[in-house]
Amino acid sequence: MSTFQAPKGTYDLTPPRSAKFLAVREAISAPLRDSGYGYIETPGFEDVNLFARGVGESTDIVSKEMYAFETRGGDKLALRPEGTASVLRAALEANLHKAGNLPVKLWYSGSYYRYERPQAGRYRHFSQVGAEAIGAEDPALDAELIILADQAYRSLGLTEFRILLNSLGDKECRPAYREVLQDFLRDLDLDEETRRRIEINPLRVLDDKRADVQKQLVGAPMLRDHLCDACKAYHEEVRVLLTAAGVVYEDDEKLVRGLDYYTRTTFEFVHDGLGSQSAVGGGGRYDGLSEMIGGPALPSVGWALGVDRTVLALEAEGIELPIPAATSVYAVPLGEEARRVLFGVVTQLRREGVAADFAFGGRGLKGAMKSANRSGARFTIVAGERDLAEGNVQLKDMESGEQEAVALADVTGTIRGKLSASDG
Ligand code: ATP
Ligand code: MG
Repeated sequence: MSTFQAPKGTYDLTPPRSAKFLAVREAISAPLRDSGYGYIETPGFEDVNLFARGVGESTDIVSKEMYAFETRGGDKLALRPEGTASVLRAALEANLHKAGNLPVKLWYSGSYYRYERPQAGRYRHFSQVGAEAIGAEDPALDAELIILADQAYRSLGLTEFRILLNSLGDKECRPAYREVLQDFLRDLDLDEETRRRIEINPLRVLDDKRADVQKQLVGAPMLRDHLCDACKAYHEEVRVLLTAAGVVYEDDEKLVRGLDYYTRTTFEFVHDGLGSQSAVGGGGRYDGLSEMIGGPALPSVGWALGVDRTVLALEAEGIELPIPAATSVYAVPLGEEARRVLFGVVTQLRREGVAADFAFGGRGLKGAMKSANRSGARFTIVAGERDLAEGNVQLKDMESGEQEAVALADVTGTIRGKLSASDG
């Protein structure tokens, strides 16, 4: 160990476990790439006000969890705590919404930072894959995103997850509901901070995880009973489309989520094997966000799935992803001349598209064969002075244990032939 360790609330991804993270990012993004979503990448930090305005000053994310700092030049920045505000900012800046092809569909993958109390499944640096569909109000778009997330999780073999679905209403019906809810909440026995929350963001009180608060919330007015006709019809259409697609969901009228910008459709993916950090992903419609950050009206919908928690969910379900061996061929030279020759063979194999590795460091045969085994390679090439004198190398099939002499001149072709035969 060195003098230094990964900062509190962070961890390193190292082989072999790191392969799962790559596989999860690939599995989540594959359905998006097949559905018209283009890749977007934005900076790891932004003007702090983008998040203050976009995510909301009253949210935990902005008020407690944000890594905000001032640069030497006096700019007030923050490490990004989430992806949506940045992606929308970037899309507006690049005028993607003016290219005449709405919705603009984008996907992203990256690191996010929140100053949270670290615990299992909750870190200060974590990773998400997300999707945003910008500039269209269409229940089919909301349904598409939920269906694609469901498809991604299923492609990983996950089954113990549930989809929670709710509607948060819109600027027609939510203000009136907000007042009714505030009247109800003001009569409850709540702590100072929660009382403040009633005035700033009363819907979030419904989301309070504490049992004594939840007990008092029985009988609270529910948004579902106050939705305007347009929101009701919209929500019903999303539900119909999900059901037609065979996607099972649960209506959760208390689902609020921690960001201010959500309107109408809101949803969360929860996994039952993760204890209290059960949300593996979430999202919803954010029709007002563009205007909140100074853009035109662009009704949009999106989600972000947590890569870290998805890996934990795989582990909780005991799912081993079929991660192919990184190396197909491992070369073990015996002696100086063989080192030069086999290093050349490995280089040639790699140029021909075959994953190959080499016993570096001049170890003995036994140690090198151990590394060959550990590499997962299907074939090992061994060569010593005598083999080379005869113009041969020894090719060992690591599955059958059989070994044969192959002419050096034919070795890469022979290996490619054998590998493609065993693929088919
Ligand atoms: P939670 O309620 O658990 O705090 P959240 O509502 O804050 O989650 P979102 O902002 O919706 O989370 O982010 C989407 C996903 O990103 C979450 O479902 C989760 O999988 C992941 N995520 C969020 N915060 C963290 C974190 N601190 N550590 C690891 N993963 C996280
Ligand atoms: Mg959170």
